[in-house]
This record gives sequence, structure tokens and C-alpha cells, in this order.
Amino acid sequence: MRILLVEDERALADGLADGLRREGYTVDVAYDGAAALTRLATIDAELMILDRDLPQLSGDAVCRMLREQRHPVRILMLTAAGTLDDRVAGLDLGADDYLPKPFAYVELLARLRALGRRAGGAAGTVLEAANVRIDTVRRTAERDGRPLRLTPKEYGVLESLLAARGGWVSTDELLDEVWAHADERARAVVKAAVHTLRRKLGHPDPIETAPGHGYRIGAAS
Ligand code: CA
Repeated sequence: MRILLVEDERALADGLADGLRREGYTVDVAYDGAAALTRLATIDAELMILDRDLPQLSGDAVCRMLREQRHPVRILMLTAAGTLDDRVAGLDLGADDYLPKPFAYVELLARLRALGRRAGGAAGTVLEAANVRIDTVRRTAERDGRPLRLTPKEYGVLESLLAARGGWVSTDELLDEVWAHADERARAVVKAAVHTLRRKLGHPDPIETAPGHGYRIGAAS
């Protein structure tokens, strides 16, 4: 599940992004409203955490523009003012949920899970191929009915491969989808994650590799 986090307080944004990545989410960060709209046009984010109080283009304006475009991203709006009037105004603008600051981290996670379930409703939450099955809401994986204990990155690779429905996924695409964090961008980490994922999936190896193409799973033969 990919999240775009929009918050102009950099320390808060970066800390939150790190925490969410540890939960296994793929997180992009934008520090203002205009950057958020630009970023959203180039990535496939299902969820957006949108601070209401942003410089120049406000969270309200971003929310309104996305809804006018009928953009499908689910929006969780953060606001410092937790009054009922603000809550109603935020929801009227088209936010899917609302969380007053300061908030408890576990509360944020709970809201994201709920929004993720709704976001996944249309696309389906279970992806399956080659007897490998994942639940993208609960973030669980199994092979031949056997539960797998995957790291967030291994899970991310598997989710990307299954979402491609038999198509090739290149190392660069995996880096972009699973390792959005710049510090981690090294091709060797993809290879390492695929290696450990394969070991956990067991035999027969369902992941195909081809130089120049990348990886795929469950291709129609
Ligand atoms: Ca702010």
C-alpha cells in the first residue's frame, strides 16, 4: 500500500514517514501542497495523509482540487484544530477521514488500515498466483496455504510481482515501488530481498528471472 504524506513540518513528516515504512508501507513525502499534486501525478498512491495547514496551497485546496479531478486517492486529513466545525468542513471538502493533531500513532495506523480496506475494495484485497496468496489489507502472505513470515521489503516485492499479474517487473520498478526511500536505493538490495523471498516461498520456485526483464510470477505458460 503506497502512501503520499504531505506535511510542511519536516521533522514531523520525516519521523512519521520512517515509522510508516517500518510498518511496511511505501511512503513518499511532499512538504507542500503543490509538490503533493505533482508527486501524485507520477506515483500510484492509494492513500494520502494531508496536513490541512500548509503554506501557499492549503490542504483544503489540495483536497478540493483532487476531488474535482475525481482522483481516487483516499485522503486522511490532519489538522491542528480539532473542533467539530473544522471536522465537518474537512469532510465537506472531500476528505475520507479526519484526525486532529496531536494524535496517537496507533490511532493514525488504525485510520490508515480502515482507509486501506476501503481503497482496496474496488481492486480486491487478495492477490494470488502460482499458489502464492497475499492479503493486501492484512499484509499476510501464504504459499500452498502455509503462512509466510516476510519482512516488509520481501512482502513489497511479492505484492508488486503479484499485482503485475504475470507481467515482468524490473529491478528499477521494484526500487521505485518498494524502496521509495532514497538511502536504500541500491540494486543489490532488490537481489537480496528476492533471494530471501524465494527461500521462504519454497519449491517449486514460482519467481522467474530474465536479464533485461526483471522478475515475474504466475505468467500464463
Ligand atoms: Ca503544517
